[in-house]
Amino acid sequence: MNVIIFGPPGSGKGTYAARLEAKLKANAIAMGDIFRDAVKQGTAVGRKAESYMKRGELVPDTVVIEVLEQKINQKEARSGFILDGFPRTIQQAEALEKIAKIDAIINLQVPEWIIVARLSSRRICKNCGAVYNILYLKPKKDGICDMCGGPLYQRDDDKEKVIRDRIEVYEKQTQPLLEYYRSKVPFVNFKCEKLDMPPENAVIEILSGLGKIGLYKE
Ligand code: AMP
Repeated sequence: MNVIIFGPPGSGKGTYAARLEAKLKANAIAMGDIFRDAVKQGTAVGRKAESYMKRGELVPDTVVIEVLEQKINQKEARSGFILDGFPRTIQQAEALEKIAKIDAIINLQVPEWIIVARLSSRRICKNCGAVYNILYLKPKKDGICDMCGGPLYQRDDDKEKVIRDRIEVYEKQTQPLLEYYRSKVPFVNFKCEKLDMPPENAVIEILSGLGKIGLYKE
C-alpha cells in the first residue's frame, strides 16, 4: 500500500509514519530526514539543500524529485511506502504520479498555536535522532537522551520565526495539493486539538480511518 501523510510542520507526520510502518507493512520515507542526513554528510544534495532548509524554504523541485525517485526504487520501498514531507508542490505530485499509484491520503489538521508550542519545545538527540519535548515529553536528565546518553539539540528551523515561515510555506505551496488529490484519492482526516495528544491514540484513529476505506484490517 502507498500512502501520503499531509500536515503542517509539527503535526506529527514523522512520529505517526514511524508507528504506521509495521502496521501497514510499508516503508516510511521522510524527505526532511533525508535532506538533514545529506547536509550532515556534506553530500552534493546536502550542499544544494542546506541554505533553503535554514530559511524554512522549499528545496528546488528538481533536486527533491531526483532524491525521491532513488528512494522509491530501493528494494525496501517496493512493497509499499508512507511518504512524509513529499509531495510539497504540484510539480512534485505530478512527478510522483508517473512513478507510483497512491492508495490514500492521511490528512493531519492541527491548529497553529499547537504547532508553534510543539516545535519550539522540540529537542532531538544528536546521536540517535530520538525526539523529546521539553513541555510534555521530557528526558530524565535535562539535555541528555534517555536512550543513548547523547546530547539533545534544537533544529535550526525549529526557532519561532522560522516555524511561522514554514507554516506560511505549507499554507501557500502545499495546502493546494489537498485539492489536487481530493478528486483522485480517498482521504483519512485526523484532527488534533490537544498539545500533548498521545501518538498511540492518533495512530489508532488513523488506522480506523484506513479500515473504513478498506485499506487496513486488524
Ligand atoms: P521537514 O522535516 O519535513 O519539516 O523538512 C525540513 C525541510 O526540508 C523543509 O523545510 C524543506 O526545506 C526541506 N524539504 C523537505 N521535504 C521537501 C520537499 N518535498 N520539497 C522541498 N523541500 C523539502
